[in-house]
Amino acid sequence: MLTDPSSGTACVIVINCGSSSLKFAVLPVEGENTLIKGLAERLGGPEAVLKIERNGEDIRIPMPGATHRDALQEAVGRMSGLRPLGIGHRMVHGGEEFTGSAVICDDMMAAVERCSSLAPLHNPANLVGVRTARELFPELPQVAVFDTAFHQSIPPKAYLYAIPRSYYEELKVRRYGFHGTSHHYVSLETARLLGKPADQTSLITMHLGNGCSACAIKNGRSMDSTMGLTPSEGLMMGTRSGDVDPALHQFLQDQTGMRLSEITTMLNSKSGLLGLSGLSNDMRTLSEAARGGHELARLAIEVFCYRLAKSVYGLMAALDSLDALVFTGGIGENSAEVRALTAAHFKIAGLMLDENKNASHGRDDGGVISSPESRIPCMVVPTNEELMIARETLRLIS
Ligand code: ADP
Repeated sequence: MLTDPSSGTACVIVINCGSSSLKFAVLPVEGENTLIKGLAERLGGPEAVLKIERNGEDIRIPMPGATHRDALQEAVGRMSGLRPLGIGHRMVHGGEEFTGSAVICDDMMAAVERCSSLAPLHNPANLVGVRTARELFPELPQVAVFDTAFHQSIPPKAYLYAIPRSYYEELKVRRYGFHGTSHHYVSLETARLLGKPADQTSLITMHLGNGCSACAIKNGRSMDSTMGLTPSEGLMMGTRSGDVDPALHQFLQDQTGMRLSEITTMLNSKSGLLGLSGLSNDMRTLSEAARGGHELARLAIEVFCYRLAKSVYGLMAALDSLDALVFTGGIGENSAEVRALTAAHFKIAGLMLDENKNASHGRDDGGVISSPESRIPCMVVPTNEELMIARETLRLIS
């Protein structure tokens, strides 16, 4: 049993489980401030460690050889005074099976397993989190919130690749889109800030973190995403290349003898900001280096912003109107430089940033960083995927 079920602060536990890591957060039913958050990493190995943050205090618990179950049990042991009502799990790929969040049951888990070929690194790891949580807390309802679900409203003209149709029919090869929980949350939050109903708000949201994607949202529904079959398509990211010529694999194989798996690893883990700068995948490091005269860091940032702008122009094809262009994620929320360099490519569309508002990250102006004359309003709206998962969990278990 977790804690005394009849007392304590009512809350929801949010779990994001990777193959050797488990991130968690505890959010109250009333209010939005995270009560506890933590990360267990290097699970299964001698350096496994659990880090917990509660009331501004950081606790670090070495747990050599710990499993996901050990880490979660230890974490929950530290949740005194809390009364969890349910557990929400981040799930990466719901394929075409899930158009929204779902209460977890055996049939539902089988459906997630059917989608595993589409996300072989992520879905099995997410399911480990679900199994562990169900085993430890059979009395608590559990909910899966999918990265892909928000994008299931994308129409065929946007989700089909121009390849023989049989690949879609037989293998479900199509564009899915990811970061849906973030794009959805940010679209609701932006509509609230604009004082408009979400289902009458059209936006382009740019989630720029380690992974990056942009999404065209028409009347509250996703109409297109820069990500595709996998989270590798689209924008340049920290270590991912984003779009490349589909003939690149063959070319590299012919020229270098690299195997397909090596090329895929190079494109996913050694490319993007890291690959182009030769320095780092971290935007803070690159900005600092560029200011100090590091030419390749400067160029990597320029390519990042140019490709982002180009993709955003592409997404406009999915919309009839645009209430705002919205920056979010670690880079989008914090880097005034990236926002300014990106916005500079939208002169033809009449976008004008207000330098002061951009420098203050829009905090004093409800997120708005564009000037009043700008034809396209531009905003910074912080994402909160854990809060969105907690809200979805409560909605489904209520
Ligand atoms: P994740 O996708 O792993 O959740 P985040 O959303 O936290 O990642 O984003 C990580 C990125 O945000 C990194 O590239 C980091 O350098 C960048 N970032 C965080 N703070 C700043 C900052 N103050 N200025 C520029 N970039 C920042």
